[in-house]
Amino acid sequence: MSRNHLASQLLFDLSRPGRRGVHFPAADTPETPLENLLPRSALAESPPPLPELAEPDVVRHFTNLSTLNMSVDTHFYPLGSCTMKYNPKRNERLASLPGMLHVHPYQPDDTIQGLLRLLYDLQAMLAEISGLPGVSLQPAAGAHGELTALMVAAAYFRDRGDKRTVVLTPDSAHGTNPASAAMAGFDAVTVKSNGQGLVDMTDLEAKLNERVAVFMITNPNTLGLFDPQVGQIAGLVHGAGGLIYLDGANMNAILGKTRPGDFGADMMHFNPHKTFSGPHGGGGPGAGPICVGERLAPFLPTPIVAKDGERYRLDFDRPHSIGRVRSFFGNVGVLVRAYAYIRTFGPGGLREVAENAVLNANYLRSKVRHFLAVPHGARCMHEFVASAGKLKKETGVAAMDLAKRLLDFGFHAPTVYFPLTVPEAMMIEPTETESKETLDVFAETLFRITGESPELLHEAPHSTPISRPNEVQAAKQPRMKWTAS
Ligand SMILES: *Cc1c(COP(=O)(O)O)cnc(C)c1O
Repeated sequence: MSRNHLASQLLFDLSRPGRRGVHFPAADTPETPLENLLPRSALAESPPPLPELAEPDVVRHFTNLSTLNMSVDTHFYPLGSCTMKYNPKRNERLASLPGMLHVHPYQPDDTIQGLLRLLYDLQAMLAEISGLPGVSLQPAAGAHGELTALMVAAAYFRDRGDKRTVVLTPDSAHGTNPASAAMAGFDAVTVKSNGQGLVDMTDLEAKLNERVAVFMITNPNTLGLFDPQVGQIAGLVHGAGGLIYLDGANMNAILGKTRPGDFGADMMHFNPHKTFSGPHGGGGPGAGPICVGERLAPFLPTPIVAKDGERYRLDFDRPHSIGRVRSFFGNVGVLVRAYAYIRTFGPGGLREVAENAVLNANYLRSKVRHFLAVPHGARCMHEFVASAGKLKKETGVAAMDLAKRLLDFGFHAPTVYFPLTVPEAMMIEPTETESKETLDVFAETLFRITGESPELLHEAPHSTPISRPNEVQAAKQPRMKWTAS
């Protein structure tokens, strides 16, 4: 049976009445009817229609399903903005050490000195990499880091009696930026990009006033371009009494090269699951540690890890803090992986990570631009955005068609239709962990696909168990209940 066929069957389809994975021995105590234990009204009329299977059926079903996933371990995964780099397995082993894995969040500080030291040192490393001294490891994802930092900013302005209600985001920003601004209670206002894909300074100046709390910038931005105006932007925003937030999703491009704190940022988040090789993509746990400048540090979430002499402890005594944003201490397992990654590379190694990420992206860009336009910039940082706009006009083939067809050739699709400022956008980020050979085969494949017939491409992918699912239906009309057909 083919893998695709196996995967198209539900456990319910494989079910056979009476088949069992486990046989319990006969009870050696008298049986009590359920009716004697629970009121009738609490009892179902019939048992739930659960599938009945032997253990190997279940194991094979889930193992086969797992092989249908694309992952960094199985495929090249050039998903722009998301930095799907290879995750060293060593980090998994370290995060699974008993002293990391079996710690209880309510354990007294004195019994977890090693773990606290690790987290304390990670705070210091992130402060060093960002150039911003105040660190909270608590937020559970990048978007959560954005929200937390904006709450910190709100507390800072409240403390000063400064009423500011607006957060500015560029039109190329990730959707989480304006969403976080709205969730933190601000009005999100968009600033236009100019013809080069950078912040339009005239539009920024027009929208900057004493009501602006924060300007959120992604640098390098989502087009893979470093905005050289960032110092000037920070000067303007600070001059108007506002703060600069740096969306750190693209830190992979600048690790050890430049520091957000040095180019004017007052606060930022890291995505350890992107930059520091935490596994991600399946919706599993990430983390979104934030770093802030001195004047914002008192407002950071509680607790932070502190050190008194030789003793590490969780510091809850922080009167200006916005409080907790996550239960216990955040997603510590992800933070352990980030720590292991940073320690493995060291400062020189991290700089090389950034250099190779930028080199790989420029190499791939120089190949792709021969057959797909790359509208912005003469060179890129860690990623670039190609446009299938011309192809769409001439043949009707869209960026989505190319992306879907790549799956047939064993490549995960790049990010498509983001940023919104580029028509038929394909945002390609190879990362530093890919070889020249992989990049060559990918570029050749993408080139070949652009010459294929529109009919074939509109129907792609052809080799996957399902081809084109409705991409919003599962979210908008979830069917949570299985019914026998
Ligand atoms: C991934 C990403 C985010 C959000 O990070 P999550 O960890 O997914 O919440 C924000 N901004 C940019 C530019 C991103 O790529």
